[in-house]
Amino acid sequence: MRYPVITKLAENSPGKYYVIDQCNGCGICRSIAGDFFDYVEGGKYYYIRRQPMDAREEDLMQEAIELCTMDAIGTDGDQTFFDIWNYS
Ligand code: SF4
Repeated sequence: MRYPVITKLAENSPGKYYVIDQCNGCGICRSIAGDFFDYVEGGKYYYIRRQPMDAREEDLMQEAIELCTMDAIGTDGDQTFFDIWNYS
């Protein structure tokens, strides 16, 4: 059985949340939680610029996760598809 290879972006700030290489650059995350996301190559893809630091910021990040069009934002703290298969 083959599983998809999922790669966390090297640009992500270290911490609980990350963006993977499936990001399509739609920018929704930045419009919701702009403090935590930045982009490279003219908006080709986005990465975690900094991690949330309190409950209010965690809520914003959760909203970005829920609305991400590609399910490209992950967290090491939850049992997501990405965690289950332990891709880095
Ligand atoms: S919402 Fe998801 S797919 Fe869109 S830019 Fe952000 S991480 Fe990438």
